[in-house]
Amino acid sequence: MRAPQTTLSSLLLRPFVLPFLLLGAVGLSVIAGVNRNAQAAHEVNEAQRRLMLINALLRDTSDLETGQRGYVITGQADFLKPYLDGLIAFQDHSEQLRTRPASALQLHNLNQAASQLNHWRRESADPEIRARRTSLQAAAQRVSSGVGRRQLDDVRETLNVMRDRENGRLSAAVASSTRTLLTVQLVTVAGLLLSLLLLVVTALRVARTVAQHLGSLTAGARSITAGQYERRLPRSGVHELDELGAQFHKMARAVRERELALARSAQTLQATNEQLSRSNRELEQFAYVASHDLQEPLRTISSYTELLARRYQGQLDSRADQYIAFTIEATGRMKTLIQDLLTFSRVRQGSRTFGPVDTASLVAEVVQDLEAQIAQSGGQVQVAGPLPEVRGNPELLRHIFQNLIGNAVKFRAPDRPPHVIVSATRSEAPPGWVFHVQDNGIGIEPQYFERIFGVFQRLHGLGQYSGSGIGLAVTRSAAEQHGGALWLDSEPGQGSTFHFRVPDQPASGRPAPTAPRGPGEAQP
Ligand code: ADP
Repeated sequence: MRAPQTTLSSLLLRPFVLPFLLLGAVGLSVIAGVNRNAQAAHEVNEAQRRLMLINALLRDTSDLETGQRGYVITGQADFLKPYLDGLIAFQDHSEQLRTRPASALQLHNLNQAASQLNHWRRESADPEIRARRTSLQAAAQRVSSGVGRRQLDDVRETLNVMRDRENGRLSAAVASSTRTLLTVQLVTVAGLLLSLLLLVVTALRVARTVAQHLGSLTAGARSITAGQYERRLPRSGVHELDELGAQFHKMARAVRERELALARSAQTLQATNEQLSRSNRELEQFAYVASHDLQEPLRTISSYTELLARRYQGQLDSRADQYIAFTIEATGRMKTLIQDLLTFSRVRQGSRTFGPVDTASLVAEVVQDLEAQIAQSGGQVQVAGPLPEVRGNPELLRHIFQNLIGNAVKFRAPDRPPHVIVSATRSEAPPGWVFHVQDNGIGIEPQYFERIFGVFQRLHGLGQYSGSGIGLAVTRSAAEQHGGALWLDSEPGQGSTFHFRVPDQPASGRPAPTAPRGPGEAQP
């Protein structure tokens, strides 16, 4: 069954909703707590102001009594001032309290205290003051009845009740404010700690989930890399990761198809290569057998033609002599061709042993072999600098030097004697020696730089320079059998330089031919 799909962002963010909701709730409760505390503080403030006013009313009551008594006792008008001021102050404080009553009961009590004071004033205080204006005795008689005192005590009692109640309210408001503050602190600390814990736990859970998904993707990718292209990555249920997995599958399929195609073309290439080298071997063997077996009839033709020439020279007519001369010349050319072809086959097919070869002595020997040719040309072969000892096959190396020096002398310019310089330099990549055979001959056009290495490829007619066009093909093959190479620089009319590299680690020789020989091989 297919797992329900979700997106990477919802996988990462959804678990954080709860901790953030909790954080939001903590914030809201802190705001509510702060509001509530402000309200409690306001109530405390109001209660304190009301308490101050009630205390002021009690003080006013005492001032009224003191002033009124003072006048009754002394009869001095000065004492009436505090009494009158007290009345105004009581009135003023009552009005202030009336504007901010705590409750209807308090307003009622205030009105009661005010009416009790009026009653005292009407019934006791003012009559006693009037009586004192008449006589002290009349006033004392009134005071001693104790009515005024009781009336004023009633006022005080009402005010005391109000004060006690206000004190109660004040304490309740202070307690409520303290409680609110404590609750806010508790909720904030606990909420923050809980949110933090939830955040850490959630982050760890999310990290583990992501790591699990990525881990299974990595394991799948690793198996694909190891060549298990059919391996299916597990579905994670996360849209983006499943998309990535699908891309992995496509990539694996593409890589597999490419590998298969490569393997197919490698197989084809190998088959073609095998076919090519088989037909190459067959061709080489054919060339060897053909050239070897052609030698025998050619030798017969050549001997009989020479015999014919010796015996009948001058006895036949002049045309017959000319025909015989042409035949001898053609058989000579054919002999050279067949011998060169044989050399080519031998160089290509022979099995070689490799060992140290002193190229200085080898070049000296080759120069000696070519002495007649060099002397006839009027030129010279110079060895510039020391020539090294290399690991190679002496026969092949001799062939290379012989061919290159021979060509350098042969393809000389008509207006100057040949000057051939043989030298060697060290090469580092790959490590080995590069030999140079430089001449001042006719030179070669750059477009023929490759062609001249082909079999039977010549740039001149036989009338100009002798040869069969096989020499450089054999020479390149000999250089390649050393794991080296043969190439040239040349400037037409100025001269050419042939270079060949012999690496320090030469390739081992090619295997000897195994195919059967032609019928004429046994003959001398
Ligand atoms: P061959 O010497 O028998 O003609 P090669 O294979 O040795 O055959 O040379 C092929 C051709 O390359 C020659 O016919 C000649 O035209 C050209 N060639 C070779 N060496 C030189 C040289 N040193 N200077 C000018 N041309 C050369």
